[in-house]
Amino acid sequence: MTNWQALLQFDQEHIWHPYAKMPADSAVIGISKTQGSIITLSDGKELVDGMSSWWAALHGYNHPVIQKAMIDQIETMPHIMFGGLTHEPAIELAKRLIKLTPEPLQKVFFTDSGSVAMEVAIKMALQYWISLGQPNKNKLLALKNGYHGDTFATMAVCDPDNGMHRLFTSTLTQHFFAPAPQMGFDIDSDNQDIAEFKSLLEKHHTEIAAVTLEPIVQGAGGMRFYRPDYLRQVHELCDSFNVLLIADEIATGFGRTGKLFACEWANICPDIMALGKTLTGGNITLAATLATEKISDTISQGQPGLLMHGPTFMANPLACRAASANIDVLLNSPWQDNIQRIETHFINELHPLKDLQGVADTRVLGAIGVIELERSDLGETIQNIAVANGVWIRPFGKLIYTMPAYNIPTPQLNQLTEGLKTAIMQALQP
Ligand SMILES: *Cc1c(COP(=O)(O)O)cnc(C)c1O
Repeated sequence: MTNWQALLQFDQEHIWHPYAKMPADSAVIGISKTQGSIITLSDGKELVDGMSSWWAALHGYNHPVIQKAMIDQIETMPHIMFGGLTHEPAIELAKRLIKLTPEPLQKVFFTDSGSVAMEVAIKMALQYWISLGQPNKNKLLALKNGYHGDTFATMAVCDPDNGMHRLFTSTLTQHFFAPAPQMGFDIDSDNQDIAEFKSLLEKHHTEIAAVTLEPIVQGAGGMRFYRPDYLRQVHELCDSFNVLLIADEIATGFGRTGKLFACEWANICPDIMALGKTLTGGNITLAATLATEKISDTISQGQPGLLMHGPTFMANPLACRAASANIDVLLNSPWQDNIQRIETHFINELHPLKDLQGVADTRVLGAIGVIELERSDLGETIQNIAVANGVWIRPFGKLIYTMPAYNIPTPQLNQLTEGLKTAIMQALQP
């Protein structure tokens, strides 16, 4: 028998969790196993998973096809350096990524995490302009409410005010920020947001290397959805002002919004695209940065001609194998029907919460459901009630949100929204 009490106490005293205190005020929840959309706690209690481990576990946990591929790969070759060597798992995955993403994205760089994929994207953009003899184009234009990671280059393009990284403002590179796109996927906009975006480009395009944005869904910076026409216009403006476009599809990639990639809503192709989180279906860490031939040729024809990056665990075969299996499982599944099923369910079940006192907004897009509260101090209470009701969610400030596995069985989907609604209602009307 595992002595969970002792383990949890050790954890609390010695191990940092994401954005957490040391030692922690209270113990986190011990987990003993996962299966499908069910998380089993140390005491045997089962929770329906509403988070997909932060967007990642597209097909739930322990998917047999992905597991089999990984076990096979562990037995053959779990890892080998990528300098001077190559292997089928990397080649097979690159083929799939090139085929699935918009046609001009032909070149692939593999990294270990989303933040690093964005670091590489930024580095590619800067090196592109250096190679063209325009080193002054070394600033980025980012969007308010954006989130691109926790490393130093990516912190500098996250929302400068919403708290996560404000502490480091004085050491971060100063970039340009456009107002967040007007909220709403389906709205008829007056394009005021685009006008302000355009005026920043007009003033500063000679200094700007690239625009960074999350297409259609701004994730950790606010769980905000915006209209495809905004993205389409940004793409056009980038072209006309000679600025590159970096699309961060780390959260949205592989179907979550109802399109395979969120860029497809606007029918655009960025110069550089970052993939992460969802790439291995939540089984092991891996990320990728894709670029057009224009980017790779320019960098290669400049000085020193090499893309200056190369992590130790680049293109780890085990992770690449998991990613290819994840993509095959996705494409062999009725994923569009599943996203539609979850979206309809969320629209029916979550939108009525808008009438509750204390709820500021509810939003649904694809298999993403968001309830924005007026207060930001109820997250922990809501999480605790949800867990007591058999549901795993992880609220963030005012935002109570869920993005379940695409293949979550409908009875579990019902359990998820019932548990979520009960938790919100109890917290708001104690
Ligand atoms: C999570 C996330 C990242 C960072 O990925 P990590 O793997 O946590 O480094 C970057 N961009 C977006 C849009 C994300 O959701």
